[in-house]
Amino acid sequence: MRQSLPKDSNILEIEKKWQSKWEEMGTYRFDWNDLERPVFSIDTPPPYTSGEFHIGLVLNWTYFDVVARYKRMRGYNVHFPQGWDCHGLPVEVVVEKANKIKKTDVPPDQFRKLCMQLVEKNIEDMKKSIMRLGCSIDWSTEYRTMNPDYWRRTQLSYILLYNKGFIYRGKHPVNWCPRCETAIADAEVEYDTRNAELHYIKFKLEEGGFLEIATTRPELIPACVTVAVNPNDERHAQYVGKSIQVPTTDRMVKIIADEMVDPKFGTGAVMICTYGDKADVKTVIKHDLPVIMCIDDKGRMTQNAGKYVGMKSEEAKKAVLADLKGQGLVDKAEPLTQEVSLCWRCRTPIEILEREQWFMKTRILTDDVEKNALEITWYPDYMKHRLIDWAKSLEWDWVISRQRVFATPIPIWYCNNCNEIILAKPEWVPIDPRTEKPKIAKCPKCGSKDFKPERDVLDTWFDSSITCAVHAGWPDRKDWHRLFPASMHPSGVDIIRTWAYYLMVRHLALFNEKPYQSCLINGMVLGTDGREMHKHLGNYVASLEVMSKYGADATRQWATAGGATGSDIPFRWPDVEYGWRFLIKLWNASRFVNDLIADFEMNEKGEYALQPLDKWILSKAERLTKKVTDALERCQFNIAIEETRNFAWHVFCDCYIEAVKDRLYKPEHYGEEKRKAAQYTLYTVLYRILQLLAPITPHVTEEIYQIMYADDKGCKSINLSVWPALDEKLIDEEIEKHGDLIVAVINEIRREKSEKHMPLNTPVKRLKTYAGSKDFAKIIAEGKEDICGTCKIEDFEVVSKKGDGREVANYSDVHFVMEC
Ligand SMILES: [Zn+2]
Ligand SMILES: [Zn+2]
Repeated sequence: MRQSLPKDSNILEIEKKWQSKWEEMGTYRFDWNDLERPVFSIDTPPPYTSGEFHIGLVLNWTYFDVVARYKRMRGYNVHFPQGWDCHGLPVEVVVEKANKIKKTDVPPDQFRKLCMQLVEKNIEDMKKSIMRLGCSIDWSTEYRTMNPDYWRRTQLSYILLYNKGFIYRGKHPVNWCPRCETAIADAEVEYDTRNAELHYIKFKLEEGGFLEIATTRPELIPACVTVAVNPNDERHAQYVGKSIQVPTTDRMVKIIADEMVDPKFGTGAVMICTYGDKADVKTVIKHDLPVIMCIDDKGRMTQNAGKYVGMKSEEAKKAVLADLKGQGLVDKAEPLTQEVSLCWRCRTPIEILEREQWFMKTRILTDDVEKNALEITWYPDYMKHRLIDWAKSLEWDWVISRQRVFATPIPIWYCNNCNEIILAKPEWVPIDPRTEKPKIAKCPKCGSKDFKPERDVLDTWFDSSITCAVHAGWPDRKDWHRLFPASMHPSGVDIIRTWAYYLMVRHLALFNEKPYQSCLINGMVLGTDGREMHKHLGNYVASLEVMSKYGADATRQWATAGGATGSDIPFRWPDVEYGWRFLIKLWNASRFVNDLIADFEMNEKGEYALQPLDKWILSKAERLTKKVTDALERCQFNIAIEETRNFAWHVFCDCYIEAVKDRLYKPEHYGEEKRKAAQYTLYTVLYRILQLLAPITPHVTEEIYQIMYADDKGCKSINLSVWPALDEKLIDEEIEKHGDLIVAVINEIRREKSEKHMPLNTPVKRLKTYAGSKDFAKIIAEGKEDICGTCKIEDFEVVSKKGDGREVANYSDVHFVMEC
């Protein structure tokens, strides 16, 4: 006899129990010693340790956990690692604010320690959430990018790229955040529109008279290096080549012609400053103009700004305008909406400054990026264009140095005597040049023993963009190519331009090989009102709140059912509640089935006297298996969950179980053989449903499996059971058509009873069915036992002609007359 399922499902307790049991049992460990099963490696993104495993990450992690679980059941040895991306600005900003300090107020060591403390606490919280979601991660792989062992890998990759010629130091314009006081990459620049004023200012021509220009940034006038007009603009043709004086200075500059100038903007004459925007950078390079920086690292005016030195740019703007007004040089101001570039972290408008920085040559790889992006399988397919378009749009190489503290140090020193660059040797890393000397006696070029460290540090993306190789065991494992390229890289649609892109260029440059074979993209999670989710919009939902109320399996159903893969999906409480109700339904149905099959044992031959409805549901279960397998192969999670839920709830529970109850209760009437056939069918179809659901709702299916099936099936977890092999010969369209008709008749009789407010088990004295055709009559007659048993019909008659009475839904030829 089987164990019975308790009445109360207590889903939340079941989930917690299995989460710790799986960990104890090592259910999800990757097996390096297993050389038989094929390998499936997931390039789990190490999430940024902001402290919150938000609902967007829940969507992300659910997607690839479903893939991991599905692949395990398909017989793969799945490598599902988890790391933490620790370094970088966001953590520093929180530390600065919490301690009311700036990075330079305390020694770097101390600042770093504060950051590490915060990160550890954040990891603790985030890890709890990932575990609560029931992700089948191999926790023995856990790593932190701030730890020396990871530094070693990041620094080694730097040394290799340097030696391959991919890394250079140069003085180039960079995006600069004056608040964070660091260079930032193009990928870290965000755009917004703001209201500004367009000022019309007169510049004095050398030969007398004025030329009026329009600008939103008068404070940059001291950095003006030329005035430009469009060569086709007849109004200004006469000025090209003439000298003009830069207001607030004594400098004269030459007026140039350039097609980039829009004759319709302002007066059609613009000043070119170093630098107002990226267009200025292009013009300066094209016309070989000088660079005059008038804004410093902190966003204050430099000596080059003359009397405005030391002012913040906003103050300088006012002061310059006031002075120019005094000289009668300001004509008017017009309101203007303008696109501004902001620091992704603190949303301060960025400046473009020229600074000595470290760069990685990425643009020379653009063709290679495109070629590989086209070879990779994308889920969904159109996402590949996001990567390709981004790569092609880049105008600058990747600036990889940052003027911050909490980051991987750049393994470089300089000779104080001859400026020679001393690059760390691979065997020196991990190393921090800020506290350690190079391991050489003297400068190889001049013999000096006096070195100074590189104080700049690496961009956080430089840490996290080698994960595909690191997860595979590079550089320590000889066999790291077993897991490389990763089978799948999962990513959010918002970070294709960073994560997917940087991974691609870094691995191509390092190993001349693509880092991943497929890329799974999730969309954004929108707020409860369909807008972007933000705390200040009041549409924000914390993932732990959802999971502590409805548990992981319901949350995972929301995530998978929410929409097509790659599309944005809103967070909806009713969807989670529906998932919860489905689990209760599944539990109660399983409990009921378990009681019905308490004495069932598989017979040796596996042959049963299957009735039309048994064959019907077995065929439908097989068809479902095909649909779900196809959907999961294509990462269409919403189809997999919707199809399975509909089948389980509306086909299996509402129709089949109801239709065979009577057969199971009354073997004396139907015979033992038919009862066994129904038991076999219930046993088989429920197991199939549990298996198809297991990747998405792993906890509840595990609990039911352990009570009902584990002894028979002999597998220690349903999550390690073999995915059902499709048996096409069980799919029988004829049988399904027959069963559909029988079920439709049963449902119509039940509807009639409930409309008449009769209990469903009310006996029916007589039922006459008009089948409309010989074929239908034959089918209904074959289903007589199940129809009569389910609907408690005493006298049943079928005639093969059209008749009156209640029409059976979807069968306009079939009618019946019921007498109670
Ligand atoms: Zn900033
Ligand atoms: Zn030297």
